[in-house]
Amino acid sequence: MPELPEVEALARLLRPRLVGQRVAALRLFRPLVFRNLLPAQEPEAALLGRQVLDIRRRSKFLLLSFDGGVWLAVHFMLAGNLEPCAPDVRPRTRDYYLLAFSDGSALRYHDLKGMGKTYLTDDLGRVPGLADLGPDALDPELTLAAFLERLKPHRGEIKGVLTRERVVSGIGNAYADEILFVAGLYPFRKAGRLSRQEREGLYAAMRQVLEERVALAVEALAGGAGLHQREGMLVHGRAGEPCPRCGAPISEINVARRPTHFCRHCQPGLLIRN
Ligand SMILES: [Zn+2]
Repeated sequence: MPELPEVEALARLLRPRLVGQRVAALRLFRPLVFRNLLPAQEPEAALLGRQVLDIRRRSKFLLLSFDGGVWLAVHFMLAGNLEPCAPDVRPRTRDYYLLAFSDGSALRYHDLKGMGKTYLTDDLGRVPGLADLGPDALDPELTLAAFLERLKPHRGEIKGVLTRERVVSGIGNAYADEILFVAGLYPFRKAGRLSRQEREGLYAAMRQVLEERVALAVEALAGGAGLHQREGMLVHGRAGEPCPRCGAPISEINVARRPTHFCRHCQPGLLIRN
């Protein structure tokens, strides 16, 4: 699933191309992923002629803002992607909709699993999962002090806390592994037991990993990589391979079918979860 870095990279690439363009057409091929939250308006008519004012990211959502206070909020889930195409292209099986713009360009939403969601709305507060997000992991207002404050009430396993969108938003399973590796923290340590120094290290690692990965994702996407491709991860997705720091094999523990990858040597902790 694309997380903060990939969606941020997509927003940065699309922004200069699309801001100022007007919607020439919305073609809905399969309505499944498309949710119209505008009462009494057909989505095609609601978007036609609207100008793109901004494209940005909030957590793992890509937000397209149009004049008249209308938004598209796109969550890609496991396999969604927005990709450039010709405006009159014939839809493939897993193409769900296409947005054509006044300059003749177009984007189509493709999703092999059909689990993504795109909301058309005039109120982002009504988009499920968007209203109750905590501050973005890269929000400048999320200072070290603010981060420590948000962490304070949470006593559970640190990986679970880090991926909870209400605490800090934008971090999913993959980048939580990367951040905890850089911080040298065992993913199943109890958040309440981390020292002040460890919490500060976690904040620094979070910022470092995400900023580096945004830069890499911008490069990869601009070079034609897919939204779901990630190269050069340190530990995530690399079970059994040597740890980039110490060479010991990277471990895997599956919790609720979500793999956690870490180095037992660099991230010491009790093997047994409780
Ligand atoms: Zn190691």
